[in-house]
Amino acid sequence: MKALFLCLVLAALPAFGEHQETSLAPIALYIQFLQPPPPAVFKALQDEVSSIMAPAGLRFAWRSLPDARRSEGWVELAVITFRGSCDVAALNPHSSVPGPLGWTHISDGVILPFAEVDCQRIRGFFQKQLLAMPAKERVEAYGRALGRVLAHELYHIFANTTSHGSFGVGKSKYTVEELLSPKFQFGARESSSLKSSKAHTALEWAALER
Ligand SMILES: [Zn+2]
Repeated sequence: MKALFLCLVLAALPAFGEHQETSLAPIALYIQFLQPPPPAVFKALQDEVSSIMAPAGLRFAWRSLPDARRSEGWVELAVITFRGSCDVAALNPHSSVPGPLGWTHISDGVILPFAEVDCQRIRGFFQKQLLAMPAKERVEAYGRALGRVLAHELYHIFANTTSHGSFGVGKSKYTVEELLSPKFQFGARESSSLKSSKAHTALEWAALER
């Protein structure tokens, strides 16, 4: 079986508790962190994913993969693994090795609902800029960047596409400035792909059935 990864990388170096959820959330994100993140980082990550996906009408129920219960059923789901240290402790001003910030699994040309986000590599790309920020801002900026990379991978999974956009969250490469900017959204084409996705239709049907 041929396994490939769809990688999101950074444009040429240097330049990547329970969350509020509505009652209409048949799309689940099963999350596992190989190293637990500080709650403030995870909250900023979730807020950013919600903000990026809101214009496309996608909402998610967040679940811990290790605590997953068999009784819950979902119309759509994705399993996300966060690798490395997902906090902003022990930063240093040096850039680290390049490589993918996040990736989605593909098998025999089929996009699988499994994605990974490399926390360590993401912070390595802009730790110099993070160090220059006040502590609270640093945590939020880092969590936001993780959310942007995750939203990119969720786009591949739920829009069921390997394609990339020319700008916005759907780009194949991010600059440090894009990862740290106050706002970063999908381009119109990617947003439209998500709106016409099977996942979006599932949400609409769930709303009609209530
Ligand atoms: Zn991609």
